[in-house]
Amino acid sequence: MTATNVNGKQVVLREVPPDASPKEVGTALSMARQAFEEWRLWSPSRRQRLLRAIRDRLLDSFDEVVATIVAETGKVVTEAAGSEIVVASEVLNYYSKETASILRTRSVPSGLLAHKRAYKRYEPLGVIGVISPWNYPLVLALGPVATALAAGNAVVLKPSEFTPRVGLLVAEIISAAVDDVGAPTGLVQAVTGAGATGEALVRSGVDKIAFTGSVRSGKAVMKAAADTLTPVLLELGGKDPMIVCKDADLGRAARAAVWGAYTNCGQTCMATERVYVVSEVYDEFVDRVTALTARLRQGSDPGDDVGAVIHEGQLKIIESHLSDAVSKGAKVLTGGGRVEVAGRPSLQPTVLVEVDHSMDVMTEETFGPILPIMKVADEDEALRLANDTRFGLNSSIFSTNRATIDKLVAGIRSGSVCVNDVMISYGIPSLPFGGVAESGFGRAHGAEGLHEMSHIKSVAEDRYGLAREPTWMPVPSWIAGGVKVGLNLRNRRLLALSGRKRTRGGTLFINGKEAK
Ligand code: NAD
Repeated sequence: MTATNVNGKQVVLREVPPDASPKEVGTALSMARQAFEEWRLWSPSRRQRLLRAIRDRLLDSFDEVVATIVAETGKVVTEAAGSEIVVASEVLNYYSKETASILRTRSVPSGLLAHKRAYKRYEPLGVIGVISPWNYPLVLALGPVATALAAGNAVVLKPSEFTPRVGLLVAEIISAAVDDVGAPTGLVQAVTGAGATGEALVRSGVDKIAFTGSVRSGKAVMKAAADTLTPVLLELGGKDPMIVCKDADLGRAARAAVWGAYTNCGQTCMATERVYVVSEVYDEFVDRVTALTARLRQGSDPGDDVGAVIHEGQLKIIESHLSDAVSKGAKVLTGGGRVEVAGRPSLQPTVLVEVDHSMDVMTEETFGPILPIMKVADEDEALRLANDTRFGLNSSIFSTNRATIDKLVAGIRSGSVCVNDVMISYGIPSLPFGGVAESGFGRAHGAEGLHEMSHIKSVAEDRYGLAREPTWMPVPSWIAGGVKVGLNLRNRRLLALSGRKRTRGGTLFINGKEAK
């Protein structure tokens, strides 16, 4: 055990076991599977009790959780409490109230087959492998684990190798809650280790992988999962744009950009990583952002605004984006220097202007405290540049004009959009969250998040027990001619009865050429 002092609080950090081998991952999986066999029999409303118990255990462990997050990541205390524990407890609250209703068996129309009853059942998948990153080590482990449990699954959790203690604490909190409600022991297993342990989990035979991390690792996960056709949910990186229109509330937009870019020292998947400002308001926006940035307090005291970069390797990526931009003509208006925070080398919050899309800082995920601002002629140019990316996680739009907002919301290519706000969509647990393009696929949160963790079983049930169906063999002779008449009568009665025909043909392309 290692003792650490975090903001005056003495916390004993857990020992982290050596990286789990594939055999140990297999053992964890079989223990989880054993617990699943009993857990699957719990009704959704009974499962909701476990989520409430996890929330209560989380709140009981508040100080220890905050201290462990701060010790492992160098976050400021307000972020550990606010962006992690608050959001996690909201997710638990949401699913502890909504699971039974979302997973209710649902009837659907049976169409032509009116003599059948059609319905969907939501069943658990089995054991879910949850692989989580270091940047929000609590909520990005607890969130998917809780969702998987709510849907009736067991879980094997592999936290990031940079934040294993937070992951172990999550497993410990859940195990205590499992005991509180008499759920089967071993329902959530933790395995520690780096990428190799993650790959072992992907290949272990779990029923689905819920992965949160970088695009590079996400692609490796998908490749490994292809061998066993294990389904994957991929929540990957982003390069989220902000558009500031000429009619925006500039005070709010500037403060939002500062929070969006520097919260968690910029290490947020949906951070504001690039800003496009229309020329009429560009100077004022830049002045406001620069003044706000220069006033930020960076450190590890309770009142500080910005914490640390996680490690030297991440700092090197951030600095390489900065030097690439400066070498191509970008200007630093404030920040730009190294600073030591909580014993970690970090970068000061940095405002960058005269940037363009030839620079990595505008096209690659920086994941650090840099706010690059680009002047654009109008909203159309902003939209074109915002969509000039291989990512598509979140985006934000600042305008006071309804028509402009609607046009930009419809035109922007991202999983979610915040209007006159940044990042906040993640804090609304009823809103599905996830990306498009290289930001991944599948959804966390909302009804869709539970459906991701469920097997949707479709049932068609005969209502009347007739001796036979019209199409069963031997097929009656009237069927061949009857199908055409019946189809026309059912689908376009008037047209069929009038004998009118469509006369204009369409243009067909085969192999990219117009067919003659
Ligand atoms: P990472 O990809 O390096 O690691 C994430 C997790 O994957 C870790 O647990 C790691 O051990 C594991 N891993 C690495 N290689 C693996 C492999 N081949 N097979 C299986 N598991 C493997 O990411 P990170 O540096 O921890 O996190 C930062 C990244 O995560 C950023 O790109 C960020 O944008 C992204 N992220 C996305 C979201 C989202 O919801 N979309 C949220 C947070 C972070």
